[in-house]
Amino acid sequence: MTAAIGAWRGWAQAAMDLFLPCACVVCGRLNDRSDRGLACARCWNRVVPLPAPRCDRCGHPTGPRRCTWCDLLPAFVRCARSLCWVDRGSGSALVHELKYGGWHALAAPMATRMARLQWPEDVVRERTALVAVPLAGARERERGFNQSARLAHALSPHWHTPVWGDVLVRARATETQTRLTPEARRRNVSGAFRAVAGTRARLRGAHVMLVDDVVTTGATLVECASALLDGGARIVSFVTFGRAPASGDR
Ligand SMILES: [Zn+2]
Ligand SMILES: [Zn+2]
Repeated sequence: MTAAIGAWRGWAQAAMDLFLPCACVVCGRLNDRSDRGLACARCWNRVVPLPAPRCDRCGHPTGPRRCTWCDLLPAFVRCARSLCWVDRGSGSALVHELKYGGWHALAAPMATRMARLQWPEDVVRERTALVAVPLAGARERERGFNQSARLAHALSPHWHTPVWGDVLVRARATETQTRLTPEARRRNVSGAFRAVAGTRARLRGAHVMLVDDVVTTGATLVECASALLDGGARIVSFVTFGRAPASGDR
């Protein structure tokens, strides 16, 4: 019986392997038997975590100095965490393949790693729901999916926390933030999101965990958080896979 199960497992694994690409989707190297996913072990090992010591509130590496990243965050943001840097290692390549390479399934291993991030006890106790930063309608139609929503859905079972996909929407389209200065980013997203009418009862008193793939200046996340507060939420925390370093980090 055990042998039969073993044979079945072997067959099932071989069948699975047929559906997995034989090369890593990030670096293109041929996968060996130890690589059980879309990205190879080498690429996962090249993810560069935010180094300790980190600020207890915003998760930013502080070194011996006072945290200045917190200055970006209004008082209604309780906490922020990101797994890795996106300016070095394989972090940005992984995000790129999730977003533009069509490899949605990368969200699962990315979320598994994000789920291990350490939070203050009150955040763990209070977190009510996961909400993804909404893409502009046109961008989502083009891409066919929202990468932040994929990450939120993949995180949900780890944290036993539901995803609320219907509480936050774009109120208007925005320019892509990539080439904008911090001040222009704030202007660009100002008023760009709103909480959906009719969700106030659910949002009331909630500690919402906002999910995005990468945080740079926090402008988009802060704008989403403020819309959720207008919609009745009490407090918001941020979780992202990647973080861009702030000026003065190196
Ligand atoms: Zn690789
Ligand atoms: Zn901080």
